Order: sequence, then structure tokens, then C-alpha cells
Amino acid sequence: DQFAVLWQQAGETVEPDEDKSDVTMRIVETANALLASMAEPIELSAQQAPVLLTVSIGIALYPGDAGDASALLHAAEDAMRSAKAERGNQMRFFDRRYAQNAINWFETEAALRLALEMDELFLLFQPQVDAATGRVVAAESLIRWRHGGEVVPPARFIHVVEATDLAEPVSRWVLNTACRQARQWLDRQHPLRVAVNIFSDHVTSGHLLDDVRQALAATGLPANLLELEVVESSLLKNPDLAAQTLREIKRLGVGLALDDFGTGYSSFGYLKHYPFDVLKIDQLFARNVTRDPEDAAIVRSTIALAHNLGMRVLAEGVETEPQLRFMARYGCDQIQGYLTSRPLDPDVVETLVMERRDLRPAAIGLDRPLHTLLIVEDEPIEAEMLSMLLADAGYAAECVTDFDTALEVMGRKRIDLIISDYYLGPITGVEVLERLRRLFPEVPRIMLS
Ligand code: C2E
Ligand code: MG
Ligand code: MG
Repeated sequence: DQFAVLWQQAGETVEPDEDKSDVTMRIVETANALLASMAEPIELSAQQAPVLLTVSIGIALYPGDAGDASALLHAAEDAMRSAKAERGNQMRFFDRRYAQNAINWFETEAALRLALEMDELFLLFQPQVDAATGRVVAAESLIRWRHGGEVVPPARFIHVVEATDLAEPVSRWVLNTACRQARQWLDRQHPLRVAVNIFSDHVTSGHLLDDVRQALAATGLPANLLELEVVESSLLKNPDLAAQTLREIKRLGVGLALDDFGTGYSSFGYLKHYPFDVLKIDQLFARNVTRDPEDAAIVRSTIALAHNLGMRVLAEGVETEPQLRFMARYGCDQIQGYLTSRPLDPDVVETLVMERRDLRPAAIGLDRPLHTLLIVEDEPIEAEMLSMLLADAGYAAECVTDFDTALEVMGRKRIDLIISDYYLGPITGVEVLERLRRLFPEVPRIMLS
């Protein structure tokens, strides 16, 4: 009802002699009121998750922006599209530059169709870094478009993809390409999990499960080296189908991350119905934690709650040391942002993994205790896989292949836990652990069989 009243007001005509800035003011007020009236979640029924709508408002003025009704509507629609392209939930006035964009819409769509065939799309990979060790634990694939001599970022074309039947083919292309890359890292002895963004429509298309299965089968990538990132809004459209699809994907062993957490409805109450492994706190919060006490409080509670629900927490968009320090202090598990690394070419990411580089700036004071474990394993690739998995739990691993080196490390470092493989060539894991027990009885030991 409130919306209807506001809508009517928005449609009121403006007197020709009214002061222009007054008119603008009235429009902004009305648009703001419209946004506010739609901001509340809508309860459809007690069993269903509340529905959250986002509103994008485009504003065009007669006679400055257009000379007749149809052109005026077009101008408003162009403005609306650019409001939407920037995430929605905002208003935009018509602007010639956006008009340019809008004219290009159809060209863009046509060009994108070709882009897939012409190999113009490619992926960059942004390292996700363990907050306690600074080591790369995964990489998020981010799409780019090499077009007309420049590299076009997703903000400028993804809305076209999403609004057309290109969404699924592009999503599938990303999935396959990212899996192939992760497989290549694995083949070169640098296993790294890849996180892939999935379009909303793909989540509830009914095809995602098959597409994931196929991408894994075609590339031979182990499922645990793949993680899907979905945004909250893709769950809201069809919560039951989304939950079922995600559960089946999880059953394959693929990881699931909820992207941009904190910008939508963000209710932990219904999140428990979805099998997410990772909660990605939206960039907005990293930007604000060091200057807005309320956002800081939200982040602290979010981390604690997510941990209690068995999820890991990753902070996106970390750009400064104070932001990193805040996130690390309150137990945030992983960091992704320009501070640790920009999105990179795959071979550069591989080098970072290979060099086991700590990507944090040197002077980070850490409050979170870091556990160090020793892995005795004669297959380097197995050791690498294990240490990568354990890095998620905050363990920094030292990997050795034989007893003598194990002994050397034990003497040099504080080790909190020893894990040994059973088959070690000349001696067995039983003997290794038995000898280490006599020397370091206080250190717990686990044997893998
Ligand atoms: P996202 O999934 O939340 O990805 C993170 C975005 O934040 C990336 O922008 C990344 O480059 C940027 N970023 C990372 N660290 C920082 C930082 O410290 N500061 C700032 N200001 N930005 C940072 P990008 O690559 O332009 O992608 C934007 C969005 O486009 C992504 O947001 C995602 O929603 C979408 N997207 C990108 N690639 C794909 C894709 O392959 N498939 C789908 N479906 N969506 C994609
Ligand atoms: Mg993402
Ligand atoms: Mg994000």
C-alpha cells in the first residue's frame, strides 16, 4: 500500500515553472522513500524464507533527457539498467554516458555471443589466503573479456550475460575452464582449490549438478579442489530447489561458499538449511570495520556465528593492514583482497603456491594461536594435498619424507601435532611414531592408513 501511494506521487506531473532543484529534490525524496519501502523482507509464509526484493530506479526528466513519452521511458530504463548493473538497490538519473551503454546493449549481447566462440573470455585468479599463515589456500576465478583492444571487467558486461540466455553457456565455460586450470596446477604438483562464481539462474536451472559432474569428469579434477560461490539472491528465487541442488553438489565433495554475505537478507536462521562450508563477508564490511563500530560488531558476531554453524569465514576486499589485523584478531579464517593479492594470471598464482609465500605484509601482529604440524609422508603430492586441507583449519604444515628430517624439524621447531603415513619405504609409520613418541612424548600423533 505504501508503495502504491509513493508510486502515485512519483507519477505526479511537475509544474513547468517549478524550480529545477526543488524538482530534483522531490524526485530524490520519492525515490528514496520507494527504496526504503521495499527494503523490508516480506514474509510469505512461516515455512518459507522471507523474500527480499531489490529495487533499481532509473530517472529521466522531460524535456532535458528526451522529447517524447517513448524516448523518456527509454531514457528512464537506461538509467534503471545502470542502477541495476551496479548491484541494484539504488537510483540513477539518466546520463548520456549510460545512454551510450544502453545503445551498446544489443551490440554487447551480439559481441558476447561471438566472444565465447572467439576465445575472448579468460579467467584471472585471485588468491584466497590463510589469515594466520599468509599462504595461498585457494584461488577465485574471475572472468575477463578481451574485447576491442581492452580488457573489460565483469561490471561492464555481466548484467548482459545475466539477462540473456548466455548465462548458462558462460557459466558452464567458466566452470570447465576453472576446473581445467585447477587440474593443471595439480598435475604440476601444486594442488590448489579453485572457487568458481555461479550465476543465480544457473543455480536453479536444474542443470548445475550435471554441469558440475561433467566438469569434474572431463578434467579429472578431484571434487575437493572445486568450490562454488553463490550469492544469496540465487537462493531466494527457489529456495527448495536451490537447497536440494546444493546438497547434491556437496555430496559430490565439492565445496560451497556463500558470496557477498551481509548485503542481502543474511539470516542465519535460514542459512542453516543450506550446506555452506564458507561464508564470504562482503567487501563493504572490510572497508568499514576499522571506522564504523557497528559494522565491526556485525563482523565479529558474524564470524562467531558462522564458526558455531561449522562454517569457515573469508573476508573479501581486504585492502589495508588494519583491516587484515581486525579480521585475523576476530578469528576470520581467510582473506581475499588487494592487500594480499590482485587477481592474477594462473602461472603467477602457481609461483606463489610453489614458493609457499606469505602474502601478508610483514608486520602483522597475530592473536590467533597458530598450530604447526609435522607431516611425514614420502609422496610429496599427498603431503601437499593434506597440508592444503589442514591449512583451512589454521594449521601450518611442515612436510618431510623420512625419519631423519622429521627429527631435524622436531629439534628446530615447536610442533603441535605429528601426522605420519603408514607406508614410508624403508620403515613404517608405526616405527616413526614410536621413535618420535620416545623423544617427544607430549606431542600427539596420528597415523594415516
Ligand atoms: P565477487 O565474486 O564478489 O568477486 C570479488 C570482486 O572483488 C572481484 O571483482 C575482485 O577483483 C574484486 N576485489 C578483490 N579484492 C578487492 C579489493 O581489495 N578491493 C576492491 N575494491 N575490489 C576487490 P571482479 O573480478 O570485477 O568481479 C566482480 C563480480 O563479477 C564478482 O564479484 C562476481 O559477482 C562477478 N563475476 C566475476 N567473474 C565471474 C564469473 O566467472 N561468473 C559469474 N557468474 N560471476 C562472475
Ligand atoms: Mg565471488
Ligand atoms: Mg564477493
